[in-house]
Amino acid sequence: MTKLLLIGGGHAHLSILRSLLHEEISDLQVTLITSSKFQYYSGMFSGFTEGLYDEDEIRIDLESLCTRASVSFIEDTIISFDPMQKVLLGFSGGIYSFDVVSFDIGSGVASDLTQNVGLNIKPNYRFTEQIKEFRSSESPVIIGGGSAGVELAFSTSAWRKKQSLKNPVTLISSSPLLHSYGNKATEKIREIAKYHNLVYYENEQIEKLKNSIIITDKDTEIKYSAIMPVTGPKASSLFQQALLSTDANGYLLVDDTLQNADYPYVFGAGDCVSLAGYPNLPKNGVYAVRQGPFLWKNIKRLITGRPLVPFKPPKKFVSILSTGEKHGLFTYGDLVIYGKWAWSLKNRIDRKFMNKHL
Ligand SMILES: Cc1cc2nc3c(=O)[nH]c(=O)nc-3n(C[C@H](O)[C@H](O)[C@H](O)COP(=O)(O)OP(=O)(O)OC[C@H]3O[C@@H](n4cnc5c(N)ncnc54)[C@H](O)[C@@H]3O)c2cc1C
Repeated sequence: MTKLLLIGGGHAHLSILRSLLHEEISDLQVTLITSSKFQYYSGMFSGFTEGLYDEDEIRIDLESLCTRASVSFIEDTIISFDPMQKVLLGFSGGIYSFDVVSFDIGSGVASDLTQNVGLNIKPNYRFTEQIKEFRSSESPVIIGGGSAGVELAFSTSAWRKKQSLKNPVTLISSSPLLHSYGNKATEKIREIAKYHNLVYYENEQIEKLKNSIIITDKDTEIKYSAIMPVTGPKASSLFQQALLSTDANGYLLVDDTLQNADYPYVFGAGDCVSLAGYPNLPKNGVYAVRQGPFLWKNIKRLITGRPLVPFKPPKKFVSILSTGEKHGLFTYGDLVIYGKWAWSLKNRIDRKFMNKHL
């Protein structure tokens, strides 16, 4: 019997669990080990923040899904890994051995602020508790002008407007807003920000904090009562500690078959890996989802001794950002369109995704 361990209940592993609802593989024992019984879906974080969805609508019950897929479920956080001995150690003290292992553990937040004053929405199962504290705080400040920071700024503003909370939300970005989406998206999001009374600072960074005041590198002073850093992803220390090959930022290095070159029985997908052939691939759920079917196919091929197939990431992908009050910004390459229909489309796609796990 081959023992397969799936570490982390991220998007690619969800896809494997969905496949196992209908597939029966002889001589394979599959176990999911993940930090929480629930997987929270970040596509619906903005809607939860704004009060459009309940907690149960934005999370997947992994334990129940595993039971239905004939997969053993263990709630634990992996803290150490020996790829040579093929064992993992959990925070609970549990020791887990395997023949084949796959990691889909996501990423953390790249900010020192999460260690002290800042709130931290990662891992994802902390999101609801953290955002509830943040959105009702007197002077909430978001750090990070990428898609996640922008979505949370708009949805927090929309929620506060409904609660008649007067103080605006402030967003501080070290680059132009939505910089990686191109100029058209940046200009459009600035326009929407003005309409929603969002206070934002671009090309500024926090220099220091003093008596509930943020002082930026341009000497701007911003009052804060809660800080939420959403400053891009940070790798888990697990892979470097295990002396596995990683990229310069500590992400597990995998080739296009999603295997680590040193240990072909170690697979990985989603935010926690770096693809050797595509080092600049953005970390987002879209790629994690797309990798899922390749990951599953290749794990089965390795076990049965067949050649593995390469994953080729698409060059462009559709993105829809919620901008509050059921409006959205749709982007695909250079195409940027804003409107109510974009949010409705996003809502339909997100709900359809969640319904696949019921
Ligand atoms: C506010 C916000 C909005 C976003 N919106 C979008 C969007 O609309 N579209 C999009 O494509 N991307 C979006 N993203 C990015 C997206 O959330 C991530 O890129 C995506 O979740 C990565 O998926 P993943 O499968 O790699 O890991 P995750 O979804 O992060 O899942 C990781 C899993 O591993 C578990 N885990 C973590 N560490 C361990 C451990 N040591 N041991 C065991 N289990 C562990 C966690 O509990 C979790 O179940 C958003 C991010 C944020 C913050």
